[in-house]
Amino acid sequence: MSEEISDNLQLILDAITDGIVMVDRLGKVLYSNRSAERIFERDNLIGKTLAIPVNTSTNTPQEINLLRPSGLGWAELRSASIQWQGNDAYVIGVRDITENKLNDERLRQAAAVFDNTRDGVMTVDADLRIVHINAAFTDITGYTEAETLGKPSSLLRSGRHDREFYAQMWQSITITGHWQGEIWNRRKSGEVYPELLSISRVTDKSGTTTHYVGVFADISKLKTSELQLDFLAHHDPLTRLPNRLLLLSHLEHAIKTAQREGKIVALLMLDLDRFKEVNDIFGHLAGDQLLQQVADRLIARLRSVDTVCRLGGDEFILLLEDIEQAEDAALVANDIISALSEPWQLSQDSEVSIGVSIGISLYPEHGNEAEQLIQQADTALYHAKAKGRGCFKYFCEDITHAARVRMDIEVRLRRGINEGELRVHYQPQIDIITGRIVGAEALVRWQDPLNGLLLPTVFIELAEKTGLITSIGNWVLKAACTQGQRWLNAGYPPLTIAVNVSPHQFRYSHIDTVVNEVLNETGFPAYCLELELTESALMQREGEATLILARLNKLGVTLAIDDFGTGYSSLAYLKLFPLNVLKIDKSFIDNIPHSRSDIAMTATIIAIARTLNLKVLAEGVETPAQLAFLQEQSCDLYQGYLTSPPVPAAEFEQLLKKING
Ligand code: C2E
Ligand code: MG
Ligand code: MG
Repeated sequence: MSEEISDNLQLILDAITDGIVMVDRLGKVLYSNRSAERIFERDNLIGKTLAIPVNTSTNTPQEINLLRPSGLGWAELRSASIQWQGNDAYVIGVRDITENKLNDERLRQAAAVFDNTRDGVMTVDADLRIVHINAAFTDITGYTEAETLGKPSSLLRSGRHDREFYAQMWQSITITGHWQGEIWNRRKSGEVYPELLSISRVTDKSGTTTHYVGVFADISKLKTSELQLDFLAHHDPLTRLPNRLLLLSHLEHAIKTAQREGKIVALLMLDLDRFKEVNDIFGHLAGDQLLQQVADRLIARLRSVDTVCRLGGDEFILLLEDIEQAEDAALVANDIISALSEPWQLSQDSEVSIGVSIGISLYPEHGNEAEQLIQQADTALYHAKAKGRGCFKYFCEDITHAARVRMDIEVRLRRGINEGELRVHYQPQIDIITGRIVGAEALVRWQDPLNGLLLPTVFIELAEKTGLITSIGNWVLKAACTQGQRWLNAGYPPLTIAVNVSPHQFRYSHIDTVVNEVLNETGFPAYCLELELTESALMQREGEATLILARLNKLGVTLAIDDFGTGYSSLAYLKLFPLNVLKIDKSFIDNIPHSRSDIAMTATIIAIARTLNLKVLAEGVETPAQLAFLQEQSCDLYQGYLTSPPVPAAEFEQLLKKING
């Protein structure tokens, strides 16, 4: 009977995964089970002396190293003293903890790596108690190690997410072992902040979860700059007023509301009279200052429901929502005209006076599309200006007639483009030092069967507004590159061919793709092609402009800024763009050598362009005196009637022969 028990006991003991040994006082093994033999890696332990401490106090686990044939291991011991055949003996439970130890060690090593990262790292155990954090954790959350160890990970919860959020997160971790996402947590200071968090589950060999490791980056700065970018995209950087984009969305919203409630919306387009003079006389800094003050006065005049936007340059637009009668808009317009005609104090103790012209369009009287209303306010403004400065005009019937005439031109121009009525003339660009022709600006002409050869001043603005400019621009680009290649083939030394790119074309027509295609088709080398862009095209959406310019730059074409000084000139912005040439607008050159301010302005532009590493070209040089001045200022290039107006390609060749020899 007792033998049977002892046989079964033997089986039971051998089935236990922990090792069990009995030793005498000297540590000699009196009994061991199978697991003990496996742990110590010996076939037979009985009679051997184990180098393990024998602890008489029961149930206090003790960790020891195991020196085994397969390498270093760890075991945890628990012992109890008993009497065996009349002598003191000890029963010792031996648990192999090597695997856990190695796991811990791996985690510690991983932690050492994480201690040096800028991401916060937090390790929690299976019960979600924090067992390790890194230095960045403290930087981000404000909690020190002492304040976090042993605490639940919910310490960081912001309260911004509901149960459902955490439930989904844990479901993902349970199923895939991983979760990543944006989460709002709370710093020690109480501040709630967004972080990008990724959580991974750590398991042991048997697949049991031992830990979770969270790695997170504080993205509050990123979020703020996202907001800032969003602000920049919808506001004018100078006045911080909403821009055209934001206006459109406000206007569309206003129209919808008015539609629902049967109300009237008025759009007032403002253009400052004589603003260009302020720019010319006092400089662009003063001009900028004035625009800011104008913005302030406009805001002060309006009700909170109204919107003031800056469209660019000296153009503003007011959106008046919820007005009673069409005539009310005129009251506001009058009020603004008198408010803006009050003198302005600029910082250099100088007082200036300007005026404003206003064009008005109305919903529903003049249309129910946002773009259409803006267009009509613009047309009305044009008529207000034509009538004399400092007045307002509504968009109405007689103006509609004028618009019809323009639409007629549009139809004919559209047809003309298809019928091959466009021409390109070339104006030589001269190197001021050598006096040789080094390039040509390609300028479009329209051979209208009805009115003869038309200059672009007659139709470019219309084409720009209707989007026709893209077809015109693409056609000119191809014609100019074809001609340039023809001259190369004919043995002329390489000339830079400058082609104008309109703001509309620049922003909406995938200009870089078009340029690339045309260069490939015509074989004209990229380094010979120069694209002339205007400031307004670049300033309206800098972020996008920068990308497009980078792509053009990569193609190897040269980039010039045209009509410099007439738009919103900011050299600081220009510095951000990969430009090569700055073209000083003709209006500055016109009054040289008579106007002291134009002389000063031109000299300054040349000097600054030099520091920005840009080549400078002066436009519209008509007299030897102007050329002499430019020579003195070390301007690089010029074009103008002094040498030649724009001429057809054949005549241009004559010039090449005559001047370059
Ligand atoms: P821009 O690009 O500033 O071109 C220079 C303009 O000044 C040309 O007028 C040229 O004939 C004129 N010009 C040059 N030298 C003198 C001078 O010494 N005295 C005078 N009084 N004028 C001079 P144009 O050809 O009538 O072109 C006017 C504008 O039309 C151009 O100004 C440009 O903005 C635009 N344009 C012309 N062709 C194109 C084109 O193919 N695409 C686009 N998008 N715009 C074009
Ligand atoms: Mg040009
Ligand atoms: Mg120009």
